[in-house]
Amino acid sequence: MRGARARIWGWRSSPPTRPADAARFGTGGLHVRLLVPPDGRVPAWPRIGGSARVDWPSGPDALHRPVYTVSDLGADRVDIDMFDHPGSPTCDWARGVVPGAPVGIMGPGGGWLPEGDPLLLFGDETAVPAILRILRITGVPARAWVTAAPEDLAALGADRRVTRSGDLLEALDAANPGPGGFVWFAARDGIAREARRRLTACGLPRGRFSAIAYWR
Ligand SMILES: Cc1cc2nc3c(=O)[nH]c(=O)nc-3n(C[C@H](O)[C@H](O)[C@H](O)COP(=O)(O)OP(=O)(O)OC[C@H]3O[C@@H](n4cnc5c(N)ncnc54)[C@H](O)[C@@H]3O)c2cc1C
Repeated sequence: MRGARARIWGWRSSPPTRPADAARFGTGGLHVRLLVPPDGRVPAWPRIGGSARVDWPSGPDALHRPVYTVSDLGADRVDIDMFDHPGSPTCDWARGVVPGAPVGIMGPGGGWLPEGDPLLLFGDETAVPAILRILRITGVPARAWVTAAPEDLAALGADRRVTRSGDLLEALDAANPGPGGFVWFAARDGIAREARRRLTACGLPRGRFSAIAYWR
């Protein structure tokens, strides 16, 4: 399935008139949490409550809060590439949303660039934006293995550091991070869990890999 690119304009309760603060989503974390309001309702946003706790809207005002990667951005825009799959409230929203409709963005968070030399990156369709961004920013040698259809690879399709793989775990078994490398792995929960198990079993220290479930 083809990923859909959503151009998002930041956290406002009305259509943006001054979206020039988007650049702050470009450092310190690769990811954001979208706050998607329920269809047909005026959005209610979270507020800081009396005890400094965040009060989240609930009931019919509850927000859908998926995590996505900032695939690119400028001073006035944040780009998010969504893998379009059935049963997704976020993809349904992105398909039907009209320009200027409000959506919240919380972040950035979820970690910055992995540290190691080389970087070995493994991911499925949902990790394509993160791999794209890491490869774009990193200054160290890197290679990536991706399970995604050719039409879902975006700019990764033209990157010689990227190999399309039918099996991420097989690719992981064959990879060698050497003495200073970092292994970064992101995929569906069972696959990420198995990657973590294999990396631990082969003795790679905990600080030299991450294996994260991107979806369940
Ligand atoms: C750090 C991080 C960064 C991420 N970055 C991106 C990104 O840039 N682009 C992107 O597309 N995704 C990304 N994801 C994955 C995304 O958050 C999940 O796919 C999430 O489930 C999407 O929310 P939803 O509203 O579609 O579905 P949910 O409400 O979470 O789930 C709805 C249904 O869809 C199913 N589902 C969820 N994801 C998939 C899938 N990929 N394929 C098939 N079925 C699925 C679920 O099993 C469930 O049945 C990221 C996840 C993490 C943790």
